[in-house]
Amino acid sequence: MPSPLEDVQTGAGFLMEAAGSRPVFTPRQFTDEQRLFYKTARDFMEKEVLPVNERIEHMEEGLLPKLMRRAGDVGLLAVDIPEQYGGLGQDKTTSALVGEALALQGSFAVATGVQMGIGTLPILIFGTPEQKARYLPSLATAERISAYCLTEPGSGSDAMGAKTTATLDGDEWVLNGVKQWISNAGFADVFIVFAQVDGRFTAFIVDGGLPGLSTGAEEKKMGLKGSSTRQVILDNVRIPKENLLGDVGRGAVIAFNILNIGRYKLGISSTAIGKWAIGKALAYAAERKQFKTPIIDFPAIREKIAKMATCTYAAESMGWRLCGMLDARIERLDKGAPDHWKHAVDVIKDYAIEASILKVYGSESVGFVLDEALQIHGGYGFNSEYPIEQPYRDARVNRIFEGTNEINRMLIPGTLFKRVMQGKLDLMPAMSAVESEVKGGKTAAPPSDETPLALERFMTAQAKKVVIFAAGAAVQKHMADLDRQQELLLALADMIIDVWAADSVLSRVIQEVESDGAEASTARLAVARVVTTETYRRVAERARSLAGYLARNPPGMIRGIDQLAPYVPVDLITARRTLAAHLVEAGRYAL
Ligand SMILES: Cc1cc2nc3c(=O)[nH]c(=O)nc-3n(C[C@H](O)[C@H](O)[C@H](O)COP(=O)(O)OP(=O)(O)OC[C@H]3O[C@@H](n4cnc5c(N)ncnc54)[C@H](O)[C@@H]3O)c2cc1C
Repeated sequence: MPSPLEDVQTGAGFLMEAAGSRPVFTPRQFTDEQRLFYKTARDFMEKEVLPVNERIEHMEEGLLPKLMRRAGDVGLLAVDIPEQYGGLGQDKTTSALVGEALALQGSFAVATGVQMGIGTLPILIFGTPEQKARYLPSLATAERISAYCLTEPGSGSDAMGAKTTATLDGDEWVLNGVKQWISNAGFADVFIVFAQVDGRFTAFIVDGGLPGLSTGAEEKKMGLKGSSTRQVILDNVRIPKENLLGDVGRGAVIAFNILNIGRYKLGISSTAIGKWAIGKALAYAAERKQFKTPIIDFPAIREKIAKMATCTYAAESMGWRLCGMLDARIERLDKGAPDHWKHAVDVIKDYAIEASILKVYGSESVGFVLDEALQIHGGYGFNSEYPIEQPYRDARVNRIFEGTNEINRMLIPGTLFKRVMQGKLDLMPAMSAVESEVKGGKTAAPPSDETPLALERFMTAQAKKVVIFAAGAAVQKHMADLDRQQELLLALADMIIDVWAADSVLSRVIQEVESDGAEASTARLAVARVVTTETYRRVAERARSLAGYLARNPPGMIRGIDQLAPYVPVDLITARRTLAAHLVEAGRYAL
């Protein structure tokens, strides 16, 4: 795919650059081929998977693996795998588009997500040519199904605290331990297992059916009831020496790089459920009458619809922006080079902050959207015969797996500061510039003209300065013990998340207004107004709330924040009404 992005922003670069200053990749730039992949996956879901939802959720014996093999036959599970190993060698955008379509049934989404992602990518990226040739062709078709065994009963977030061991005995590794919460465990043929080799965290490929390898009973889960989740028990399991994945001691590199990919994909697939739920809520609210009025005509319901669409649009804008940046940079690498994947992983790692943002924002916004969709259904929303209850339960775990949202939040500023210390991110000049601006004593003034998006640009730019100002204060006081300042890290994370959401929405809407004109873009302009205003206000409020803890002179810090982000009276009620009217007329998420 020829990249529309000539000059690609590097990881976290959005924080220092002028608001909305770079072209971003958006759904309008999907190629015909990418759209076709999405359509094929969506058709597959509608024809083969959604009609058997009940049977999946009751764990009908053999059904989920059978459906995975059907998806494999159509090629849906092979998008990431290179052609030389029986795959289709598609880009990250295509892979995320297929993931978005498959997300429409939660249990199927988890099973295929493991197969395409954490269960296969470790071999694709870190495997030897022999391992790739041995496993990838059958994983591409789901002839073999994979599972990823990182978590243990005593170690979840602290994955490196795993107790499973691997000991070399002649030409074989001997594995012992218990893995917890392993998706696909009930029917997997290949297990990626992490274990300690004399205290060095290491990955292995373990074939199913070996003596000593067994699984526990199915976990009784709140949601995703059709997916298989079990313990995996390794009791003196012997595997050939050559099933070591990567080198001894490289397990953390494998585990965390693979999780980065899972994180942004989870953010994008969350938007599929968000869009679906908005459609269901609109349809129900148009039908349901109270006080002789369809409830969709009540402003309170319309406000909910507008809020649901706003965060879904923001997650979508961030997701495709990231995919565009990844593809543009990966496309420049030499695909034929023996170390191609190492470089591709380096590109993905560069966007670890954006990946964590998408995971947190996507999982929380879909949680919010489903909660409001359920509320719009009133008592019927609470009834399992209506459509919202199941995805509501299914979506809850999104905040827990792929790194809990607390862990991902802490990673966002943690990684940012680490990059600054390593000289990879030039934040210091931006910090000095903001400090000088504050010392200058002038209060920023919002634009007085009515040019579309001028106010949104101003608010996003100023919000960035407030984040940089607060980050500067945090570094000054707590550089030595930042990792123990969790409340501070969480607050900074929320500010950075908000800013990336605003910058991504603004950049996308700038492009769309340039192409369609302002008159045809009223709904999208309303989204931009809401997201940038909310960001501007929330970021300033969060920074103010840190002043008492961070500053030697809290009133001085608060004055600085007020100078950077003075209160701007923006009418969000009208903006949300405009957006809701557009969605009600369309009867679906049409942005
Ligand atoms: C349905 C399902 C499927 C799963 N599939 C897989 C799979 O296929 N493979 C796999 O390996 N794992 C899988 N998992 C496991 C999942 O990744 C873990 O549950 C997750 O990493 C959290 O670990 P934990 O449950 O042990 O929680 P804990 O790590 O014990 O966390 C409990 C709470 O403490 C918080 N916390 C932990 N550490 C800190 C800290 N340092 N600072 C502040 N707060 C902290 C957490 O954020 C959380 O709120 C799955 C889980 C579920 C529920």
